[in-house]
Amino acid sequence: MSASGVQEIPVLWRGDVLVVGGGSAGCAAATAAARSGARTLLVEATGFLGGTGAAVLDTFYGFYAPGRSDRVVGGIGWELCERLFAREQAFERPNTYGAGTGVTYEPEALKLVWDELTEEAGVATLLHATVSQVVMDGDRITEVVAETKAGSVRLAASVVVDASGDAEVAWRAGAALERPDGQQRVQPLTATFRLGNVDLAATPTAELHRLMREAAASGEFALPRTEGSAHRTVLPRVVHTNMTRVSDVNPLDPWELSAAEREGRRQVHEYVRFLKARVPGYEESYLLGVSGRIGVRESRRLVGEYVLTRDDVLSARRFPDEITQCGAPIEDHAAGSSTIWQYVGGDADPTGLTYGVPYRCLLPRDVAGLVVAGRCLSATHDAHASVRSMAQCMAMGQAAGTAAALAASSGRPPAAVDVTDLRRALEEAGVLLDQPSSARVDGRVSQ
Ligand SMILES: Cc1cc2nc3c(=O)[nH]c(=O)nc-3n(C[C@H](O)[C@H](O)[C@H](O)COP(=O)(O)OP(=O)(O)OC[C@H]3O[C@@H](n4cnc5c(N)ncnc54)[C@H](O)[C@@H]3O)c2cc1C
Repeated sequence: MSASGVQEIPVLWRGDVLVVGGGSAGCAAATAAARSGARTLLVEATGFLGGTGAAVLDTFYGFYAPGRSDRVVGGIGWELCERLFAREQAFERPNTYGAGTGVTYEPEALKLVWDELTEEAGVATLLHATVSQVVMDGDRITEVVAETKAGSVRLAASVVVDASGDAEVAWRAGAALERPDGQQRVQPLTATFRLGNVDLAATPTAELHRLMREAAASGEFALPRTEGSAHRTVLPRVVHTNMTRVSDVNPLDPWELSAAEREGRRQVHEYVRFLKARVPGYEESYLLGVSGRIGVRESRRLVGEYVLTRDDVLSARRFPDEITQCGAPIEDHAAGSSTIWQYVGGDADPTGLTYGVPYRCLLPRDVAGLVVAGRCLSATHDAHASVRSMAQCMAMGQAAGTAAALAASSGRPPAAVDVTDLRRALEEAGVLLDQPSSARVDGRVSQ
């Protein structure tokens, strides 16, 4: 939209850095920008912070790499974990395969701690505000329009961070994007659920999966995925699951997304019926709640200054402008009833290797004044299936917010931020940019 077309809409806020989306990436971005001295606004469509991490999930992956015991991500994400640990609202769940050791947290506590971290940093937060338009001056984004209970409002900033998960701002600004269509498949969607009064120890995971296969084969239960997670939580006898699978959905199509929500809910009740009927330890369990919305793993992604690839992941590539690192495997859920894992470094077993995520993955090629963070970063489908864990989303957010503040204070575009300055600021803020006890071998970093 041109600047002349929005003159009638009142300006509600004007400042340095505007962050759209209050999930893992957006909360970290806003906290980092405000701590760097920028006047910062965080805009979130729902009534709480935490995004997918609060509405759908309960375990951060990506702080640890499978196959090694030291942490590979620090910064604001780890500070958040420490606050949760201190309140006994989180614990580490050891796992040497899959995505590595996770940090399982209570989602209600997560919302509260994000409120605290953003408030303490001095972030102004608008909840129940959905960004619906952008205002451009040539190729530069200058404002966004958000829909609120007071109607449309304009929000103006030197730099905008798109942490909306679906690249809402980049899309509206006309940035080059990859998006689901007839040719481009995306990972399936999942509605998660929590059950109370479960004796989890009564059925080991391998036996649960065997019972799933047996139940599906009997024709008595319709279970699209015959593996997945049912794990302990902070709350006694409460388990959190990641089992349902709604495939072949374009999450950007309003009708398809609506149908997926209904199908996810239907599957939840079917899995609950199966668990209660067939799995020892679940006989007296009850459904505590279904995820506040269906979980979308993948939708629009930026095609930015650099596109992270499968080869970068499998060859454990490092970059001079990397702003975080990732050791999570490529975890592809789109393979029938099971999930395919491919580890960083290309080995069959986890080795603890990580690769770097370049700052350029957060920068559009064609829109100025914009930085992207979180699951809508610039990456191919395969690389995205590795880098999308929440620890990496928080790290990308911290980098985007810090870069946005540096750009706003210097009056230069985000693409002109000195990467050495950015990396120094991130390290001073506790971000782990390389593996301390590592040796470089053929460009790879081995442990
Ligand atoms: C089913 C499922 C299971 C997963 N399991 C794990 C796991 O166990 N561990 C792990 O680490 N990762 C997991 N992931 C991946 C991870 O959860 C996501 O990649 C990550 O949460 C994305 O964070 P984000 O900040 O980019 O986006 P989100 O957390 O989705 O945040 C985006 C925010 O933007 C807001 N928003 C969107 N559009 C607008 C708008 N126009 N205006 C204002 N606000 C807007 C949304 O309401 C939302 O709050 C899983 C993902 C799914 C879907």
